[in-house]
Amino acid sequence: MIDFFVEIRMRSLIVDVLKAPVGPVPPCGVPVPGSIFKRAKTVEEVEKRLGIRVSVESGVKKPDIMNTLNDILEEYERMLRANPKFRGVELFELKLSAFHLNLNNASMGLYEGLTKTITVQPTAGHKIARAAQLKLNAAKVKATTFRDAKNVFRHEFGHGVQHQLITEAENFRLRDAFFDIVDDPKKLKILKTKISSYATTDPDEAFAEIFNLMVRGDPVSDDVYPTAVKLIRRILGKVKKS
Ligand SMILES: [Zn+2]
Repeated sequence: MIDFFVEIRMRSLIVDVLKAPVGPVPPCGVPVPGSIFKRAKTVEEVEKRLGIRVSVESGVKKPDIMNTLNDILEEYERMLRANPKFRGVELFELKLSAFHLNLNNASMGLYEGLTKTITVQPTAGHKIARAAQLKLNAAKVKATTFRDAKNVFRHEFGHGVQHQLITEAENFRLRDAFFDIVDDPKKLKILKTKISSYATTDPDEAFAEIFNLMVRGDPVSDDVYPTAVKLIRRILGKVKKS
């Protein structure tokens, strides 16, 4: 029991490994009435509108910078309008990194709990990444998730939500419930087919994957991981009456 809590506290760095980028619907999110997105022209403008520091590592290709930042800005502004509770998730920095963020060259995003920083690989905002995502969506391929900046950002923000809005006791319940799923081949298969294989790797990844889909507006049924779905629904203010 104590081990779980220690691990939750120690775990300040979450790296995302993405093998097969897929998602069931286009990565556009649910439109919020009255919102017309205005593209930012400079990094400084993005900083001002997000109210957080934005940094770009050397080596990031110039055309990728504003494409990626505008994708994230558009999605973050939409999320904040749709869900006021997201303002309670502090982010100090948004970082674009030219490098893959893990050893096997597959990661696209990162959430660091200690520094409250989200890092995104700028190719996630590249038109090739978006086209690949749309193609996989159209083919209704279900495997792991996303590769474009909006999906990467939502997933990483999901880690931030879990880190900052979920209590330790709730996190313990989440872990407990996740291991129940892992121990039951039927439940594990539901999580894998309805959400992603990546979601079956770890309770935090399952939370972030489900969060990404629910915030995007996809219908997610309780049976994939009831404890997580209920918590996320509560955060989103969509509590099912029973
Ligand atoms: Zn993750």
